[in-house]
Amino acid sequence: MEQTKHFASQADLEEKRITFSQISEHAWAYTAEGDPNTGIIIGDDAVLVADTQATPAMAADVIARIRTVTDKPIKYVVLTHYHAVRVLGASAYKPQQIIASQDTYDLIVERGEQDKASEIGRFPRLFRDVDSVPSGMTWPTITFQGEMTLWLGKLEVQILQLGRGHTKGDTVVWLPQERTLLSGDLVEFNATPYAGDAYFTHWPKTLENIAALKPKALVPGRGAALVDPQSVANGLAGTRGFIKELYENVSAGAKTGADLKTVYKETVTKLRPTYGHWVIFDHCMPFDISRAYDEATRYPDPRIWTAERDVEMWKSLES
Ligand SMILES: [Zn+2]
Repeated sequence: MEQTKHFASQADLEEKRITFSQISEHAWAYTAEGDPNTGIIIGDDAVLVADTQATPAMAADVIARIRTVTDKPIKYVVLTHYHAVRVLGASAYKPQQIIASQDTYDLIVERGEQDKASEIGRFPRLFRDVDSVPSGMTWPTITFQGEMTLWLGKLEVQILQLGRGHTKGDTVVWLPQERTLLSGDLVEFNATPYAGDAYFTHWPKTLENIAALKPKALVPGRGAALVDPQSVANGLAGTRGFIKELYENVSAGAKTGADLKTVYKETVTKLRPTYGHWVIFDHCMPFDISRAYDEATRYPDPRIWTAERDVEMWKSLES
């Protein structure tokens, strides 16, 4: 039954259906059946966009949807983390400010260029009209550590680091008045968490910190918007279950001295019955398990993925 898998998501070419919906008084969700989401906050005097889409051409569709509900200026872009698929559309919004955690800024300095090349190679469909991306990096204009508050008129917008998980710099956008959260890739729904740059041993605690806010609505990084407390709880539990199960399997295997490829095969077999139907499962598993194995052995911090390392790893695990 084994057949050669195409590298990452190079064979995933089917366009997704977009949904743009209001999830609370000031928040909208732009979702795409498991492709990366964008969260939108419309305040009294300005609009904030969290995560931009992968290219300016794709961001133009987000802008068109925003313009069906408001003509207020899009002043702020928040980068929930540094991944190319989240940030490279930023220029389309012509924002006054691009906000990111200092940790995210540091990751852009350290590995932004490599990540850009790597992500475009893995998933070409997600970078439609990639030539519309300006050369170089998307640089934040405001950085913060821990938390900051933005007032859009009378609307309080908290921009928070609740701990590491998907990356070192993970940031969420929180509307305390309406208990609405834009989580970035810290939370996924019916979509496989990408954990190639993750901190597995921190992520579950960070999800507890999100749960402690008691969100009533949440825009995950991928998958449908969660618009009631029970759905939010399900999204958090699914993400936490996947991360914990994967890491427990991999660290147990690594402790026995098994090599990465052996641990990879065992872990995929173990997790597939529960999670195999989530989108990008086959894409993520080689990256996620490589990182988990690193974290369980001798790399507390994620190693930089390059286009070359991606292909080398894929060949060694999928052959
Ligand atoms: Zn990401």
